[in-house]
This record gives sequence, structure tokens and C-alpha cells, in this order.
Amino acid sequence: MSTIARKILLNPGPATTTDTVKMAQVVPDICPREKEFAGLMAGLRKDLLKVVHADPEKYTAVLFCGSGTINLDVCLNSLLPAGKKVLIVNNGAYSQRAVEICQYYHLPHINLAFAFDQRPDMNKVEETLAANDDISIVYTTHNETGTGLLNPIRELGDMAHHHNAIFVVDTTSTLAMRPIDIQKDNIDFCMASAQKGLMAMTGLSFVIGNRLYIEKSKEYPTRSYYCNLYLQYEYFEKTGEMHFTPPVQTIYATIQALKEYFAEGEQAKWERHTRVFHALQRGVDELGFISVIPEEWRAGLVVAVYYPDDPHWDFEKIHDYCYERGFTIYPGKISGSNTFRLCALGSIDVDDIAAFFKVFKAALASCGVAMPVQYQKRGLCE
Ligand SMILES: *Cc1c(COP(=O)(O)O)cnc(C)c1O
Repeated sequence: MSTIARKILLNPGPATTTDTVKMAQVVPDICPREKEFAGLMAGLRKDLLKVVHADPEKYTAVLFCGSGTINLDVCLNSLLPAGKKVLIVNNGAYSQRAVEICQYYHLPHINLAFAFDQRPDMNKVEETLAANDDISIVYTTHNETGTGLLNPIRELGDMAHHHNAIFVVDTTSTLAMRPIDIQKDNIDFCMASAQKGLMAMTGLSFVIGNRLYIEKSKEYPTRSYYCNLYLQYEYFEKTGEMHFTPPVQTIYATIQALKEYFAEGEQAKWERHTRVFHALQRGVDELGFISVIPEEWRAGLVVAVYYPDDPHWDFEKIHDYCYERGFTIYPGKISGSNTFRLCALGSIDVDDIAAFFKVFKAALASCGVAMPVQYQKRGLCE
């Protein structure tokens, strides 16, 4: 067997995977309608519940074939009763995506927007809920992957429940990294895709949610066929299968990834991501980069920094220099600001980050960027 080159992905997913996960995809051909395959998916769905400590009596995991955005689409279009509204607590690009989904489906919604570098004002959330008794879904993003800001989900979920709304959280960039307890965190629905925290491959996404609310949604207006939560859930309940063709190879990879997840352990894995994050943050701090999010609000998985004001700064060139040497860095996702990101996802550790900074410094030097980096415009972060 030839060895597969190891690449260090510092982009916000897909993440660096182990060779055992890569190789788990190479299996004899199988028709996914076979009982053998349905059995594999049943085990996978149970294991996904364990990742967020969900009671299988109360919660279920519904699988979809698609990238992570399919989960946002599914939850928003499927869980809104007639005559009700969605409240989106929006402080970043991923919650903005949920707003766009509401716009595309013409779903009544309130876009409660805050600055991308600020935590939501909880008083405003409370006021909005109090003033609109037709809100039945409160929605937010756990870790805003564009900036690395951590939202206070437990508090938001509690507020939602006090106002008889369900709480839907996009946990795509925390699940299987930052520990989540679905019940204690007041979550009714969370979600992720296989290629981020689980360190598997692209093409499989899943919603973990309260069975009772899924059952209730049978009576709600149907707004999509392929992306309807109840339809997919019901098919799983009846047959143990996805309604349509599943991403077969990705499912094999995810089953292996889950084995490796439980072997590493929730706490040990979170500690590893945390030390990788700190190594990344220390590295950019030492080089003088200004971070987008203050320390106390960081989710501990994404480092986002502003471009320095140096005429020699050229992100594309620096990216290419690193990429040619096996390290992938990623631009930011904040409209109107020039930022880039280094992420602590995937099967990597601090030695990889030390190796990265050697290459990154050489990239800056090769472009003639002054180190420590310089900022002319003051007040970016003040
Ligand atoms: C990655 C990500 C998604 C999904 O993005 P896709 O490109 O569809 O995989 C959704 N929400 C968050 C917070 C993410 O980090």
C-alpha cells in the first residue's frame, strides 16, 4: 500500500483525517439498500447521540446526504408551524446564512443582528421574545466559524424555552470537539457534518433533535421535498434507511471516525484541540497580528486575525507558499474586513503547528513582510 501524503489543513473544515479513516472507505461494493448497510447506519446514528450525551428515548439523529448547510435548510424549512416566526440571533456569517435560507423559503423571521465581533445583547433577545409571542424557533450558531466567537447557547436556549420556543443551534464547528450536552445546553436541535469535528469525509450531515418535535412537524407546512426533516425521519423509522441514496463511502469513513473519537475520548480530544488552538493563537500573537475576537469570547477552535498594513502583505502568495509545503491557511469570512483564519480542527497536534509557523514565517520573509507585522490604522480592536 502506498503511503498517503499528510497535509495539515488549517482551514475551517474539511479537516486533516487519519489514514485509518481514509482507508475505511475502501470496501467491497455494496448496495446501500442491503440490511447489512442499514445496520451500519443504525449503529452510526446511536453513536452520534452519544457524542452529545443525548438520551435515545428522547432524541434521534437523522442523516442527510449533503454538506453542512443542508442541516440549516432542513431545520428551518421543516420546523416552523404555520403563522409562526423564526428569531435568528445573528452575529456572523453562518447565522446570516440562516437568514438567507428564511428569505429563500419566504419564512416569517426576525433577523436580530449584532456586530460580528460582539456577543449578542441578551436583553435585546429577551425584549424581542417578549414582544413577539409568535416566535416558535430561536436559532443561533454555537461557534461562528467566520470569526471564532462562542455564543452563549445555554442561556439562549433557556430564554427560548421560557417563551415556549424551540432552540435550534448550528453546532457544525463545535460538535465532537467542544463538549456538548444536548439536555444541559438546552438544545432541541443541533447539527454537524462528518468532515469537521468527527474528522471524517465530506458528504454526510446530520441533525440531532427532539423526537417529539419532529413528530409534531408532520402537521407543519411542507416547503421542501428532498430537505424535509419529517419525511427523512419517518423513512429511517420505517426502514432504517435514508430516503434516497446515501453517501456510502463517507458512511464507512464516519463509522471508523466515531471509533477513533470514542477511543481518544471527549475530554482528551477537546484538550488536544485546545492546545492546538493556543499554539496557533500564541504564534500569531508573537508575530504581532491583531485578533478579531477578544480572548474571553473565543470558542477555542478558530483564530481570526486582521491583515497587517504592510504593502508587501499578499495573502494569496503567502497561502501558496504554505500550500506548496503542505499547510493550508484560509481567508476570513467577514464582509468589509480583511482577515484570515487558522483553525484547530482535525487530526493534528502542536508539533504540526510548530512546523507550520516555520513555514509561515518563511512565507512572510519571502514576501518581504516586516516582522512583527505592522498596523498603521489604529483602533481596529480598541
Ligand atoms: C462549515 C459550517 C457549515 C456548513 O458549511 P458547508 O460548506 O455547507 O459544509 C455550517 N455552519 C457552520 C457554523 C460551519 O462552520
